[in-house]
Amino acid sequence: MPSFEEARSTILDAVRPLGAEVVSLLDATGRVLAEDVAATRDLPAWDNSAMDGYAVRSESAWAAGGLAVSAYIPAGSPGAEPLEPGTAARILTGAPLPAGADAVVPFEQVEERDGRVILRAQVRAGANVRRQGEDIRAGERAVAAGTVVGAAEVSFFAASSRLSVPVFRRPRVAILSTGDELVEAGAPLAPGKIHDSNGPAVAAAVKEVGAEPILLGIARDTPESLRRKLGEGLRADALVTSAGVSKGDRDLVREVLAELGVSQLFWNVDVKPGRPMAFGLRDGAPVFSLPGNPVSTLLTFEEFVRPALLKMMGHRRVLRPLVPAVLQDALRKKAGRVSLARVRLERSDGALRAWSAGDQETGMLRTTLRADGIAVLPAEWGDVRPGTTIDVQVCGGGFEVRAA
Ligand code: AMP
Ligand code: MG
Repeated sequence: MPSFEEARSTILDAVRPLGAEVVSLLDATGRVLAEDVAATRDLPAWDNSAMDGYAVRSESAWAAGGLAVSAYIPAGSPGAEPLEPGTAARILTGAPLPAGADAVVPFEQVEERDGRVILRAQVRAGANVRRQGEDIRAGERAVAAGTVVGAAEVSFFAASSRLSVPVFRRPRVAILSTGDELVEAGAPLAPGKIHDSNGPAVAAAVKEVGAEPILLGIARDTPESLRRKLGEGLRADALVTSAGVSKGDRDLVREVLAELGVSQLFWNVDVKPGRPMAFGLRDGAPVFSLPGNPVSTLLTFEEFVRPALLKMMGHRRVLRPLVPAVLQDALRKKAGRVSLARVRLERSDGALRAWSAGDQETGMLRTTLRADGIAVLPAEWGDVRPGTTIDVQVCGGGFEVRAA
């Protein structure tokens, strides 16, 4: 049985980024750039003013009688005639600097008298001028492949007049719930039945990652029903099932997947919770068979499926950062395997503190609802005492910061 880390590296070694597609800047946001993007021209495209003020020739601007105002250059104007010595041009931010001018003196630093401007202080060459190409040079690869497109990247693309960029494709992820006890949420419950919460939950998690969920609904615990639904799911870029993967006599998911040509890379992981989980491949597409218990489904998705989908989308940072936090209460744990504990986090007195988010049994959704993160407790640890520094993956919206 693979350890937590071994299972994760088996999965990450098995999946590859999907192909690229060209999408609009807005659709590219949050996705990973598939190629380097170079500047098509200098930014800025010409020398221009960084301030509202007067464009001057710095060497002759400190003239006793001041400078005659020779032109007015607002932003958007095509520019002005070359600046004659002894004159200044009134210029606004972003407007082209006239030839001959090499500095801009802000309005606050001049006196205006009888149509002439008198400087209050010396001006140095280059002051308040944005030089052509000083930001980004034409041809420079300003944004590298592998970058996650955010507002700053979009700013560069738009400034370079690009309407679309190549990004890695989003995987289409088929999601199947399995079990004779399941009824679709919204439908009435007969005795012994429960509503399918894993299907919608996994779909939500897939969406949060930025991939595209395809809901296949519910398969019954019969070979026929599983064959039909799993066969459908194997047409997607990835398949995520829940339940039917332990040792019960109705647990047929692995058997039917094998029949459909899925080669299993492992079954069962030495982690608590999340042990009964299988992973396989068919034609390079990953197949995740997650445990059915809703909390285990969510945790195994977070630890194993999320990083794989991120890698398929071209992301290089696929694991959440681990942040150290000081445990405030005790956590029960058996030595020998990694254990995942749901914790609440709070930042106070300059330290990050963690509390158990509640009963750690996998039946307790309430604990997951209250959690800010998942503590990854090393295999060799036994019970964890208050005051221990633990590693926590911060999930979702982060944690509260309390003033001291
Ligand atoms: P199994 O792995 O099939 O034995 O399922 C483990 C537990 O998870 C059982 O209590 C199931 O009723 C429950 N379960 C399985 N699938 C779902 C689901 N889609 N939504 C909610 N609970 C589920
Ligand atoms: Mg079942």
